[in-house]
Amino acid sequence: MAHSSVSSDMESNWMTLGNCSNHPPETFFPSDGVGVEVAKKICAECPSQEPCLEYALAHRIDHGVWGGTSERQRRRILKARKEARAVISGRTR
Ligand code: SF4
Repeated sequence: MAHSSVSSDMESNWMTLGNCSNHPPETFFPSDGVGVEVAKKICAECPSQEPCLEYALAHRIDHGVWGGTSERQRRRILKARKEARAVISGRTR
């Protein structure tokens, strides 16, 4: 399992089901855009995609492909969620 080293027992159920186990860990820590796309295609078929993404977002993991997203995509998601929370709470920033 590529990402299991950062999980706790409570959080790792989804990891045992992930498609990561069929691929070398380095597949999910690519060094270029082509590698990112390869990893994202594997994630697209993974039954654990949603919990995997939420785990990476919750733990602010900024390296590697998690839940079908690149580092840049996760930063955008976090920023969008932060802005959405600000709007809901009535703040503009
Ligand atoms: S979504 Fe991708 S990174 Fe996450 S468990 Fe599945 S294959 Fe691994």
